[in-house]
Amino acid sequence: MNNPLPRLPEFEYIRLETIEKAAQFLKDHPGEAAPYLGGTDLFVGLRDRRKQPKYLVDLKHLEGLNSLTFDPAKGLTIGARVTLNQLIDHRDVQKNYPILCQAAKQVGGYQLRNRATLCGNICNASPCGDTIGPSMVYQGSVNIFGPDGTRSLPLEDFFLGPGKVALVDGEIVHSITLPLPPEGSQGMYLCHGRNKLSDLAIAAVSVLAYPDLTSASGFRFRIALSAVAPTVVIVEEAQVLLSENPIEPSHFEKAAHIARQSCKPIDDIRSSAEYRRELVYTLTSRALNQVWDSLQSV
Ligand SMILES: Cc1cc2nc3c(=O)[nH]c(=O)nc-3n(C[C@H](O)[C@H](O)[C@H](O)COP(=O)(O)OP(=O)(O)OC[C@H]3O[C@@H](n4cnc5c(N)ncnc54)[C@H](O)[C@@H]3O)c2cc1C
Repeated sequence: MNNPLPRLPEFEYIRLETIEKAAQFLKDHPGEAAPYLGGTDLFVGLRDRRKQPKYLVDLKHLEGLNSLTFDPAKGLTIGARVTLNQLIDHRDVQKNYPILCQAAKQVGGYQLRNRATLCGNICNASPCGDTIGPSMVYQGSVNIFGPDGTRSLPLEDFFLGPGKVALVDGEIVHSITLPLPPEGSQGMYLCHGRNKLSDLAIAAVSVLAYPDLTSASGFRFRIALSAVAPTVVIVEEAQVLLSENPIEPSHFEKAAHIARQSCKPIDDIRSSAEYRRELVYTLTSRALNQVWDSLQSV
């Protein structure tokens, strides 16, 4: 019989002085070395033998990875090792990126969020990662350092599948940038799990909407669905419906219906696919109506 709580497999802990050396080490040990921050995903994966790296390359001490800066022109830049609690406690994040705060507070419990990072949540690339949908409706991008230089990639292009991201050997995400949301933005993160305290999402919806005089409705909407497809789904068709037609309450139901059609959920231990589809409809409709009310009341 399998031991339900096996010991961790053996690994070597690697701590190098610079990001250049860390990237080179990762490049020199493809498939054998994994970068790590809080370790809250990595160690569970090791314990369950889903991940078996020979080397764990610690990034937490590296220069520059701990900075959290906000500049209205550049937006918010979140260093890889910034914890979720640091993010939640930051005044500029609370003021300008409230959906991200709502979502970050859903991740595990307080103690976990003292270790867990936004970067780790994103790089783990679980479709139910709470912070991914909000980071996508804020049109975030990842800033990558690799042995061959630096590059930035929009989050929409970063996720390739569950646990799969568009990094090549030796590349490390050193920060995540979220531009300043458009003036007058209102948004909401609605998530449903098996319990209210600390469980992964069965389905979740992120909505951001803002006034825009160039659209037919006078508003633009961004909608992302989590935990209901291999990667987070941006519901383009519903976004267009709500931007390119005068707003009528029935359009929110129509948009929710489109969202339900756009997802590809699976049956698993947490929910049936059918229940997930119904949740997508309910959560999208609820989020759109509430965000619309907020837009009207400012
Ligand atoms: C009890 C418990 C409850 C949880 N509840 C939730 C929840 O409710 N919602 C939720 O979304 N998640 C939840 N999680 C998952 C987890 O806490 C988050 O995904 C966390 O944010 C990961 O961050 P980390 O710093 O611990 O990442 P790590 O575990 O250190 O790394 C995660 C992955 O990213 C890779 N990686 C790390 N840093 C980098 C980098 N700089 N560049 C490239 N790749 C990198 C690692 O190799 C690893 O594959 C829970 C976990 C536990 C143990």
